[in-house]
Amino acid sequence: MPCPLCSHNKTHKHGKTSKGSQRYLCPNCKQTFTDTFDTIYYRRQVSEEKVRIVLQAHCEGTSLRGISRISRLSYNTGVSLIRAGSQKAQLIHNAQVQAVDTDAIAADA
Ligand SMILES: [Zn+2]
Repeated sequence: MPCPLCSHNKTHKHGKTSKGSQRYLCPNCKQTFTDTFDTIYYRRQVSEEKVRIVLQAHCEGTSLRGISRISRLSYNTGVSLIRAGSQKAQLIHNAQVQAVDTDAIAADA
């Protein structure tokens, strides 16, 4: 996979993380990273299932204390996941909205 930091194409496998996911090393910028780089799961101990539960509960309007109870995560972990999730969503939204062709919209409208 290409390096997410410098886009160098030839990265090498570089052992596994403590959670058992593949770690990569970029020979160009000398940084290591994993498959989940650039996702909200990167460098978190929380399982993807729990992240999903927290974000789902938040979308349905569950209180932060309620989310903490359902997921059995600490209040602060829940808040941190929701922050990360909403930042990520905002970035994706911004990137896609920028890519919209305004001429096409004007023509449709
Ligand atoms: Zn690199």
